[in-house]
Amino acid sequence: MMGDEYDTSCNTWGATMAGNAPRADSVIIAGAGPAGLAAALALAGRGVRSVVLDTGNGTPRAGSRACGLEASTLAFVYDLTGTRLDGAAEPWGVQRIRRRGRDVPQPAAEPEAPVRYGLSQQRLERALLDAAHASPLVTTAWRHRIESVEQDETSVTVLARGPGGPVRFRAQWLVGCDGARSVVRRAVDVRFPGRPRVDRLLCADVKVRLPRRITATALVPPDPSLADEPASPDVGGPATPWLFVDPPFHRGGTVLAQPLPDDVWRLTWQLPMAHGVAKAAEETRVIPVTGDPADPKRIAARVRSVLRTLDALSPEPDTSEDPAHDLLWSGEYEVHQRLARRFRVGRVLLAGDAAHLVHPSAADAVELGLQDVRNLAWKLAFTLRGYAPIRLLETYHGERRGAARRRLALGEDALHFLAPASPAQKVGRRLTLMGARGKGTTLRRLDPRGPAANTSGPDYTGSPLLTPGPGVGEWIRDVEVFRADGAEGWLSECLDRGLVVLLIAPGIEVWHGGGWREAGLMPRLRGRLDKLAAPAELVVTPDYPGATAHTILLIRPDGYIAAHLPPDHLDILEQSIDRARGAGH
Ligand SMILES: Cc1cc2nc3c(=O)[nH]c(=O)nc-3n(C[C@H](O)[C@H](O)[C@H](O)COP(=O)(O)OP(=O)(O)OC[C@H]3O[C@@H](n4cnc5c(N)ncnc54)[C@H](O)[C@@H]3O)c2cc1C
Repeated sequence: MMGDEYDTSCNTWGATMAGNAPRADSVIIAGAGPAGLAAALALAGRGVRSVVLDTGNGTPRAGSRACGLEASTLAFVYDLTGTRLDGAAEPWGVQRIRRRGRDVPQPAAEPEAPVRYGLSQQRLERALLDAAHASPLVTTAWRHRIESVEQDETSVTVLARGPGGPVRFRAQWLVGCDGARSVVRRAVDVRFPGRPRVDRLLCADVKVRLPRRITATALVPPDPSLADEPASPDVGGPATPWLFVDPPFHRGGTVLAQPLPDDVWRLTWQLPMAHGVAKAAEETRVIPVTGDPADPKRIAARVRSVLRTLDALSPEPDTSEDPAHDLLWSGEYEVHQRLARRFRVGRVLLAGDAAHLVHPSAADAVELGLQDVRNLAWKLAFTLRGYAPIRLLETYHGERRGAARRRLALGEDALHFLAPASPAQKVGRRLTLMGARGKGTTLRRLDPRGPAANTSGPDYTGSPLLTPGPGVGEWIRDVEVFRADGAEGWLSECLDRGLVVLLIAPGIEVWHGGGWREAGLMPRLRGRLDKLAAPAELVVTPDYPGATAHTILLIRPDGYIAAHLPPDHLDILEQSIDRARGAGH
C-alpha cells in the first residue's frame, strides 16, 4: 500500500486502513468546479458525507466564465448554499437581435418563458466554496491531482498525488466532476465522441454605466423590409440582453452583450476558428490577455465599439464621447460538442463537463452540470440508505444523458445560425433573419428566455421511473402547501426529505388547526405511506394547475413529477412509488 490511506467515512487522515470496508455513506468527488462542489453540498443536504479532491488551492478561480442561470437553478443553489444569489444576479428580459446595424423584429416571447438571470460563474463558485468549507459533511483535499481509479464490487479507490506525496482515497462511490479533460472518465475507459472546436469565443466583463432596460419605444426604427412581424413588447423590469449578428463592428461574426449585476456587461465575440490553437481538442482554457486576438489593445477597441453601439441604442444616447468603462476580465475559450458514451460505469458516475460539452447557446454548461447533480444526489442518497436498489443509479445515465443529447441537438441547430459552415447554412441564416424561413423557431431558440434555455423542461419524459400521465416528467410548479405537522410552506421546500405525495384537496385552507389531517382520505393515505421502503411525505394543497380535486401527484426529491394519479387510480400509488425509486418491474 503506497503512502497514506483515507477512508471517507471518518474525515480524518489516517494510517493504512486496508481491510476496512468503507462505510455506507461515503462518496469521493473528483473536481471542485461548480458541478463537484454542488454535488458535495447536495449530498450533504441529504446527510451523505463526501470528500472533494481538486488540484486547486481552495480559492475561487480567476475569470468570470459562464453567466446565465434559470430561476429554478438559482433556487437549487439557494438550497445548497443558503445564500440568495438573486440579489447578485440580473434578471434578463427578451433578447434584442440586430443584424447589420438594424433591429430584427422578433416573435413574441413564450407566454411562460423561464426567467433567466445573469450571474458570473465566479460569484456562484464563491458561494459554493463558502458553503462547502462550512459543511461538516464535506471534506476538501486541495492540491490533490487524481492519477488513477480502481473499482471492485463494493468500493472505488482513487490514487491522488497531494503536497505530501501519493494518497489513496476509498469510498463506495466516485463522482467524476473533473471537467472536460476528465481523468476519471479516461480511467473508466469511457469514450467522449462529438465535434471538437465548433466555435471560438472571446469573453470580456466590462464595468460601465449604461441603461440596462431598453423599452420598445427607445428602439431605433426597424428596417421596414424586415418588419414582417411586430416587435415584441418589452417586459417592464428585467434588463435587455443583445445579440448583434454581422454587426458593422464585427463583420461576419456575432456579438452578445449580456447585463450582469453591478453595472457589469458580459460581452462575447464569436471569433474565426484558428486551427491548431488549442493544445488538445477537448480543452477549454483561459488564455492570458496577450497575443492576437486577445491582445489588450484589440480587446479595448472591440469593447469600445460595442459600448458605443449600446449607448446609441439607449433612450438618451450620448455620442460625444465613448462611455467611461473598466475592463474587468477577458478570456477566450473554444467550444466543443461532445457527449460521454456512459454516465455510469459500475461505482463511477460522471457529471458536468466531464460528461458533456454543449455550445452555450443551447445550454449554459454550469446549469447543465447543476441539473446533473440535482438528478444524481437523491439517487445516490437513496441507494446508500437502502431506500432503493443500485439500479436506480442506472437511470441517472439514461435521464441525464438523454437530456444532454437533446441540448447537443439544439446546439447544432444554433450553430447553423451562429456559425454557418456551408453556403447553404449562410443562406439559411439570411432567410431566417429576413423572416422567410423558420424565423420564429430559430430566433426563439436563441432567446435566453426561450424553450432552449429551459434546461429543467420536460426532459425526463419516457424515463422508466415515471408512471405515464399528464405533466409527468416535468418540473413542479411551486404552490403553497400544508404539511402533516401543521406547517404551511412551499412545495419546493418539501423536497429534501424524500419523495413527496401531494394531494389536491380544494377547501383545505378553510380548516382550522390540524383538523384536515383526520378528514377524508388522509388517515388511510398516511397509513399507506408509513409502510413504504422509502421516505415519502404527505402534503396537501387546495389547487394545482392541471390537476383535478383529489388527484395525487407523486414528486421525486429532485422536483420532477413521477406520477399523476386521478382519484380512481389511487390504488397504484405504492406501485408508482416503487417505480420512482427504481424498484418497479
Ligand atoms: C473563458 C471562459 C469562458 C466561459 N464562458 C462560458 C459561457 O459563457 N457559457 C458556458 O456555458 N460555459 C462557459 N465556459 C465553460 C464553463 O466555465 C465550464 O463549462 C464549467 O466550468 C464546467 O464546470 P464543471 O464543474 O463541470 O467543470 P470545471 O469547472 O472544469 O471544474 C473541474 C475541476 O476539476 C479539477 N480537476 C481537473 N482534473 C483534475 C485531476 N486530475 N485531479 C483533481 N482535480 C482535477 C479542476 O481543477 C477543476 O476545479 C467558459 C469557460 C472559459 C474558460
